[in-house]
Amino acid sequence: MRATDNKAIKTVTFFMGDGIGPEISDSVFAVFQAAHVPVRFDIYNVGEAEYNRNGKLIPDEAFASFEKTKVLLKSPITTPVGKGFRSLNVTMRKKYDLYANFRPAKSNPAVVTPFPNTDIVTFRENTEDLYAGIEEQISDDEMHSIKVITRSKSERICRSAFEFARNCGRKKVTCIHKANIMKLSDGLFLHVFEEVAKDYPDIIADNMIVDACAMNLVLDPTKFDVLVTENLYGDILTDLTSGLIGGVGLMPSANVGTDMAMFEAVHGSAPDIAGKNIANPTAFLWSACMMLDHIGLNDYADLIRSAISNVMNAGVHTTRDIGGNASTTEYTDALVSEIKKLIAMAA
Ligand code: ATP
Repeated sequence: MRATDNKAIKTVTFFMGDGIGPEISDSVFAVFQAAHVPVRFDIYNVGEAEYNRNGKLIPDEAFASFEKTKVLLKSPITTPVGKGFRSLNVTMRKKYDLYANFRPAKSNPAVVTPFPNTDIVTFRENTEDLYAGIEEQISDDEMHSIKVITRSKSERICRSAFEFARNCGRKKVTCIHKANIMKLSDGLFLHVFEEVAKDYPDIIADNMIVDACAMNLVLDPTKFDVLVTENLYGDILTDLTSGLIGGVGLMPSANVGTDMAMFEAVHGSAPDIAGKNIANPTAFLWSACMMLDHIGLNDYADLIRSAISNVMNAGVHTTRDIGGNASTTEYTDALVSEIKKLIAMAA
């Protein structure tokens, strides 16, 4: 079970955000230590508190570290609503062209929902659409946001979805759009999808209008396999798909570019529960496991995933967002014990 202890230590950049960020980060640190993961985190504080201290939301050294390691694990960061800051998440995705946002939503037998057989992977385009940040004040009473869709960026996200489907034995890719209304922008996205689909005759390619998709996801999520969509629809629909499997506390994500990758939970910093020791760290732990897969430490990721699965299935130490009553630290302690048990069994 445990990989060789003499594996070279890999350095991964770690951004420590705010809200529940520090609590769920502590969980990752404890679990990694128990699993003897050969990773050293290069840790930086980021966000509003850092801005108030140093005048920068992300310190230059933090950017430099990510540019060197090429791999980032990022805990949630609060984005103040309205004027002021641009979302740090959006900043990172655009600055490093982390264009493919990969978000798997798979039912867990330990979490009872009306949708026990959900297994949907969404590919969300991460760098354009209304998130391109092109906004204009026409007058005090009129604001414009420009939606940007380009052929090249549509093509690479559609190709990522089809490549994933082919490599992972998935059967269908569905393009989600609103091309009936936004005939030019969404029309281009859909057209490019159909062009790319021709290169993957082994995969079923279909498409659905985003509002119909929202309805069909809650009527019967088993109809869906892989989704590919633009930035805003992807943001909204993946909160929906996380709801199908039990909530945002259970959904990891990867933001992948050409040679850099950032891993984070889908949820935000949850200020309403910050500091209460009740946050569910599972989404962040699974994101950390995806990071370990990415850097070739799959055996450690599998060990941690097995421990999570065992503890969740036992149902004694789960957090309250999924129906349990354990605190974040009690759940983490249970994971640490389970990892030690699994390592001892494999020895
Ligand atoms: P953002 O705009 O960054 O997505 P948000 O406030 O809209 O932030 P979240 O921070 O994801 O959204 O929180 C949405 C709801 O889910 C909140 O009620 C929050 O308490 C809950 N939540 C989010 N993450 C977790 C978690 N890890 N464990 C338990 N509850 C969570």
